[in-house]
Amino acid sequence: MTSYQELGPGLSGAGTHRATLLEILVRAMQAAGATIHWGTPLEKLTRDSTGRPLLQDAHGHRHGPYDLLLICDGASSSLRAQSGVPARVSRYPWGALWFIGLRTPEFDPHVLWQSVSGTRQLNGYLPTGTRDDLLSLFWSLRLDAIPEWRTQPLEKWKRQVLFLAPQAEAFLQQIESHDQMAAAAYSDVVMRQWHGERVVMLGDAAHALSPQLGQGVNLALMDAAALGDALTEHPLPAALAQYSATRRRHLRFYQFATRWTTPFFQSGLLPLGWLRDLAFPILHTLPYMRRQMTATMAGGKLGPFAQMQLQPSPARLPSSTLTRSGEDQSAPRVRFHCMSTNAQHPSDSPVFDVPAQPIEVLTLGESLEAEFPDIPGEEIRQAIETAQKETSFANDLITLKSRVREIIRR
Ligand SMILES: Cc1cc2nc3c(=O)[nH]c(=O)nc-3n(C[C@H](O)[C@H](O)[C@H](O)COP(=O)(O)OP(=O)(O)OC[C@H]3O[C@@H](n4cnc5c(N)ncnc54)[C@H](O)[C@@H]3O)c2cc1C
Repeated sequence: MTSYQELGPGLSGAGTHRATLLEILVRAMQAAGATIHWGTPLEKLTRDSTGRPLLQDAHGHRHGPYDLLLICDGASSSLRAQSGVPARVSRYPWGALWFIGLRTPEFDPHVLWQSVSGTRQLNGYLPTGTRDDLLSLFWSLRLDAIPEWRTQPLEKWKRQVLFLAPQAEAFLQQIESHDQMAAAAYSDVVMRQWHGERVVMLGDAAHALSPQLGQGVNLALMDAAALGDALTEHPLPAALAQYSATRRRHLRFYQFATRWTTPFFQSGLLPLGWLRDLAFPILHTLPYMRRQMTATMAGGKLGPFAQMQLQPSPARLPSSTLTRSGEDQSAPRVRFHCMSTNAQHPSDSPVFDVPAQPIEVLTLGESLEAEFPDIPGEEIRQAIETAQKETSFANDLITLKSRVREIIRR
């Protein structure tokens, strides 16, 4: 068992479902005035005569030209290859089957539980719910073995799962058909830099990796923060160079670490499993090594002997969830467009401009002070502290903030 508290007081991890992150992002985009085009698969990236990016979607509509295009279309990005920035993309032979269900009491809502047998069987349970009490099951499998898995009786597979995780019996009852399990493949995307002329790559489009260390979302969020900082500090071409330079060390470490640890958990190389079972318990007893392993899982390593200074919560709100009164309305303005193949949202969010100034990031306290101007700041801070003690998912701002609101209104 590993705890983030080992890295410093007040530090904790947060298991957050992707839908929660999407919701936070969509709210922030709407508050910032982004126009969101749902159900718009982008197909073509071209340039106008001045080199500015133009897009064409699958419905034949053209978009742009843009001053800057953020390419964040995931591991199988189709825009990356058209951006003119070189990338090497390979696929891991092993992937995983996934199921998200309601957590059963046998699983601790605060623990990521994993079990491995050799290098060919790996089973994990990741609590991902805050509002809904969810649990994600993953089961490692070679991609070319998935068609055969589909033809076998589910009960046979469940017996294999129960061998590794006997406590999963009640949870597994939610799986009644192969179709409830999603298959996931992993890519390894390597780039020397993550920007080109008026284009920049973020998230999996820039650096997809195997999810062995669970870092994909951390890396993507840090990309966004680094790009935001760079655009605040420098004009466009220099900002993009600064973005690539800032991200290089962190991304290199995690790409290297993931590439080298993955075969110890997912491969046909059994001796690596024996080595892992021998070495990991020993490494865990050495305080220095144990801290390094925990820091790696926390996403804060910059190299074998270097790491970031991680700070405890309160987490900071996405900058655009609030705009301050008294903003300079005459400042130059920028218009955001965001396009996604995700079709579950309406496409009619209003067009709205925001100032092209450094965007101010408000802390949770500041945003609540703005929301409750009649409540003294000290009382708000106490409510945040109480809410943080009550919820172990302190980084899930939606849950945390609504709990603070309840306490304040009480
Ligand atoms: C099985 C598995 C388990 C994982 N587990 C973890 C974990 O525990 N922790 C963790 O941090 N990370 C994990 N990851 C990695 C994590 O999911 C990714 O790192 C993260 O989703 C990357 O975010 P992204 O926004 O860059 O890409 P994505 O989440 O892939 O989003 C890309 C978006 O672009 C859209 N899109 C794609 N093509 C187009 C197009 N042509 N036009 C318009 N829109 C398009 C898609 O619809 C999608 O909405 C896991 C990944 C896998 C496969």
